[in-house]
Amino acid sequence: MSADPTRPVAETRREKRETSPQRELEQIKADLIAVVSHELRTPLTLIRGSLDTLLRPDLALTSDQQERLLRRAREATDRLSLLIDELLSASQIESGDYVLQSQVVDLNEVVRGVLSNLAQLGDHRLQATLSDTPLLVRADPLKLEQVLNNLLNNAFKFSPPGSAVTVCVKADAARREALVSVTDQGRGIASEDQAHLFTKFYRVDNGLSRRTPGIGLGLYISERIVHAHGGQLRVQSEMGKGSTFSFSLPLGDDDAPTDD
Ligand code: ADP
Repeated sequence: MSADPTRPVAETRREKRETSPQRELEQIKADLIAVVSHELRTPLTLIRGSLDTLLRPDLALTSDQQERLLRRAREATDRLSLLIDELLSASQIESGDYVLQSQVVDLNEVVRGVLSNLAQLGDHRLQATLSDTPLLVRADPLKLEQVLNNLLNNAFKFSPPGSAVTVCVKADAARREALVSVTDQGRGIASEDQAHLFTKFYRVDNGLSRRTPGIGLGLYISERIVHAHGGQLRVQSEMGKGSTFSFSLPLGDDDAPTDD
């Protein structure tokens, strides 16, 4: 494929995915160029613009205006660092250089910690139902936080302001699993797109994804992390009604997977 570096990654959706390793590699390279040129450049331009404005003495900015510019630069920096973290995580997963620092944790506590540190909530109404009893799993808490943060950020990004986002943590005793789900009231995901969501750089080709920052690595990374813990990441979605992303983890610390 000829790489067009000005093309946003959202537009690089593969209509027909080539299967040969050579074509796959070329596609990954083209996607990376699109990511670097668009998704990294946009926040950089914002930071540069904010700093230039702050450095102009002739503008005599009020302290409120200065604060707004600083906040804008700060948000763009967060966006940049998330992008870099995602690229790094994906490359570690690819190279097999991804180590879980597992310990026995109560899933309720991990979820509680993420909810209390949420950076992005917008106007959404966040509702959480945790389990009444501790749900002990053998897991890397930082990696689980990464998964949950990604699912929550997506729920906020892809659903309208004011709508509810619900987090639920519960046990499926029969299957000896813990389940964490994030439900939103967004526009939903068509079933043909659901089949590709956990693929690197895949973004749904609709106006909303194109206008929303992101590079299509979050769900790929999340699926790999959950899989490495012996669990499964699933999506259920209906167009016009919303989406639920949920992941399972084996319950208990005795027969849980060992570090890999
Ligand atoms: P990113 O959010 O950076 O695009 P992800 O891998 O997290 O990457 O998500 C891939 C794509 O899946 C998104 O671009 C979006 O099109 C779709 N998606 C993910 N979560 C949701 C959701 N909760 N509602 C609707 N679409 C979603």
